[in-house]
Amino acid sequence: MRRLLIAGNWKMHMTAGETEHFFKDFLPPFSEEPLKGALAKGHIEVAFFPAFTSLYVASFAMEGAPKGFSLGAQNVHWEAKGAFTGEISPSMVAESGCRYCLVGHSERRHLFGETDEMTQRKIGALHDVSLKPVFCVGETLEEREKGKTFPVVERQLLAGFDGVPSEKLSLETVVAYEPVWAIGTGKTASESDAQEACHYLRAVVARHFGKDAADGIRILYGGSVKPGNTAKLLAMDDIDGVLVGGASLKSDSFLDIVKAAVTTLGA
Ligand code: PEP
Repeated sequence: MRRLLIAGNWKMHMTAGETEHFFKDFLPPFSEEPLKGALAKGHIEVAFFPAFTSLYVASFAMEGAPKGFSLGAQNVHWEAKGAFTGEISPSMVAESGCRYCLVGHSERRHLFGETDEMTQRKIGALHDVSLKPVFCVGETLEEREKGKTFPVVERQLLAGFDGVPSEKLSLETVVAYEPVWAIGTGKTASESDAQEACHYLRAVVARHFGKDAADGIRILYGGSVKPGNTAKLLAMDDIDGVLVGGASLKSDSFLDIVKAAVTTLGA
């Protein structure tokens, strides 16, 4: 069974002080059932992707928390060090207490020019320091309307995974299917559309990297996930978690998403 991953992408929100407040509200319910048991059994993981400036505070806040919480960064440079003003290296991300790092988020692709080639370099650089990429792929509305969803996500996936050994995929890599038209718009993909795309991505992994990689890799759905649509999405066979933007910024709504995930486990 693949471990469910409930991930909150905070984007450019939450100062360090706001991060500290968030965790004071968010963590206490995890010392009680059913959340305590669900995390302890290892069937679910809750990850946060704060801004770089809040990573240390988040890591400190999570120190006394039960196991099952993880941290991730929102971006990374592929070089180990050098004259790259404003960039952060993979080892800097790792030393900040992170286990994960987003790669290829549509905001990075569309607002900051992140190309398929850059995603491939970042994924390799993250694996080199044992960080796990959460690799985002997804089509625009125009691409969907032209029937190009599958070729677009396949191209993105194979470009990013070019040269990645298949054994790195099953446990060391996460894919997030995030249709661009669903991000921050309030329009969630239907659970059947999300399942169809995630199933397709798993089949692409199987074809190119083998059955073990396809069976092990976690594939998340992201795009206007809310407490009310989480359970239906997670009930789908190929959806192993959710990547949540807006609804992860308030402790009560993100907590409700985690509770909905726990309900789907029957934990
Ligand atoms: C995201 O930023 O990855 C995202 C899915 O955002 P939202 O949940 O706000 O659509």
